[in-house]
Amino acid sequence: MLESLKKMFSGNEGDMPVSTGSKPDISREKSAELYEKAKNYFPGGVNSPVRAFKSVYGTPLFIQKGDGCFVWDADGNQFIDFCGSWGPLILGHNHPKVRDKVTEVMQNGMSFGAPTALENELAELIIKNNKFVEKIRFTSSGTEAVMSAIRLARGYTGKDKIIKFEGCYHGHTDSLLVKAGSGLVTFGETSSAGVPKSFAQETIVIPLNDKDAIKAAFEQFKGEVAAVIIEGIPANNGLLMQDVEYIKYLENICKENKALLIFDEVITGFRLGFEGAAAHYGVKPDIVTYGKIIGGGLPVGMYGASAEIMGHISPDGGVYQAGTLSGNPVAMAAGIAQLTELLRSGFYKELNNKASEFAESIQRFATARNYKLKVFHVGSIFWLAFTDKDKIQSADDIDPTSMEKFKVLHRELLNRGIYIGPSGYEVGFVSAAHTKIELEKAKRAILESLDVVFRNK
Ligand SMILES: *Cc1c(COP(=O)(O)O)cnc(C)c1O
Repeated sequence: MLESLKKMFSGNEGDMPVSTGSKPDISREKSAELYEKAKNYFPGGVNSPVRAFKSVYGTPLFIQKGDGCFVWDADGNQFIDFCGSWGPLILGHNHPKVRDKVTEVMQNGMSFGAPTALENELAELIIKNNKFVEKIRFTSSGTEAVMSAIRLARGYTGKDKIIKFEGCYHGHTDSLLVKAGSGLVTFGETSSAGVPKSFAQETIVIPLNDKDAIKAAFEQFKGEVAAVIIEGIPANNGLLMQDVEYIKYLENICKENKALLIFDEVITGFRLGFEGAAAHYGVKPDIVTYGKIIGGGLPVGMYGASAEIMGHISPDGGVYQAGTLSGNPVAMAAGIAQLTELLRSGFYKELNNKASEFAESIQRFATARNYKLKVFHVGSIFWLAFTDKDKIQSADDIDPTSMEKFKVLHRELLNRGIYIGPSGYEVGFVSAAHTKIELEKAKRAILESLDVVFRNK
């Protein structure tokens, strides 16, 4: 920890000033007006459901611009942002290096549907600095990357069944919109209308952090399992940290059963470090998927594996997968510019230190006040959980009634200029653009808001 940083966050959190209570609501008229309009055009007024503010107070803020760690809404309110477009913006909003590279490349046209040197450049940046992939394929979203990885695993192994974990999100592909049925090991039940039951039958859903469950699944479906898919560190349903030992167990049981281990690193890739969660644990997944950060804010996904496994993808092999805009030059440019910054020496160390001190200082305050709050964090990802459990490692460990507290917290934070994802199941992200000054401001706003949350209980 840098000394100066330590000083910034030190002090007895128990002595922090108590807020005078709930803050009056900021003006949200323009956003509300835009939302009314949007409802005429889009189901729920949005193009992705979590944006609709269904589990918090009020209606969505319409964002006008972002710069560094700040966003501004249509009413001109300024916020310190911890959503970061749900993870991609590890350098903050509108980073000059990313913006300049994108504008430069755009001058030459935006898509050709033919190879460009920029694809090679981004691939080289990734493959040279990542021991988990030898060959890759770019897609235009994380969902597509995961969908393709699943198809590849099935094509490669000649088996059909997939094991996934309750509490992991892998995008909205049919075979993964499946939740656990009753019983330890069961076929999944679809978690969305429109997913055929027969698809769900190919997906087995088990709890995280449970060796018996995975063992039983492999016994029950002996010789049928193509792959086990897990989020590097599950971060879409709270932050469900797994023990290294458990992940190594998964790696071994997959090997024993000739099933592939797929690491969905769409959030954790390039976030925990350049090589994501695989390097964090020291395991070697067979297929890895990336998204979010890899595109610097533009739509990019990717899946990769050994050259041998990737040899099964068309046109080399029989597993078909394609994309009109895959690897398009503008998105590649953003990825190149962003990943180049991440490779600077000390980048992750500085970011992760800053983020962990931020998280821990909030925790110290909550502990000093006996608030039932845990700030789980890893790298620059944090999750505010209203719980007194020391560990939350599976979806079942989360108390749904705690989300009422999150609702109050979210409103108080917006009214104090802090923007976080509008659901208590979502994690927050610290970016390189959050300076110590802004983190200190954000911390104070969070502490004041917690006082309100716990006095209104
Ligand atoms: C966001 C996410 C996806 C889906 O990516 P999209 O780009 O939204 O399609 C898949 N897996 C994980 C782990 C994610 O966090």
